[in-house]
Amino acid sequence: MSPEQMLTVAVEEARAGLAEGGIPIGAALFGPDGEVLGRGHNRRVQDGDPSMHAETAAFRAAGRLRGYGRTTMVTTLSPCWYCSGLVRQFGIGRVVVGEARTFFGGHDWLTEHGVEVTVLDDPICVNLMTDFIAARPDLWFEDIGE
Ligand SMILES: [Zn+2]
Repeated sequence: MSPEQMLTVAVEEARAGLAEGGIPIGAALFGPDGEVLGRGHNRRVQDGDPSMHAETAAFRAAGRLRGYGRTTMVTTLSPCWYCSGLVRQFGIGRVVVGEARTFFGGHDWLTEHGVEVTVLDDPICVNLMTDFIAARPDLWFEDIGE
């Protein structure tokens, strides 16, 4: 499965989050054979939980796994420090990032520490966030702590 194909699952999640009135960031955790282990989206608004980021939601949805070295975390937006920490904490081997234009998180740090990172610079992901930030700057700046 290509990074672009995997990203479509994360984009579906981002759109689901937007439809719920939330922040349109989606993610999915894939196994070594391209199977979806877990998927989710940012639920800060929906759950009233600022720690429920897309990557965290996907990770939790996957349940307990014996090892993460051969898994891939796919996210529509560059992972924040908190989610980048999750990747390193559990030794997730690979990260696919939809875009890093609207938010530049910890993906370079992940690369420096041996995680295989692919940044797709996907226009759908860029548009999702650009439109959202224009429409709801209050929510966005709350989410990134500014
Ligand atoms: Zn995060």
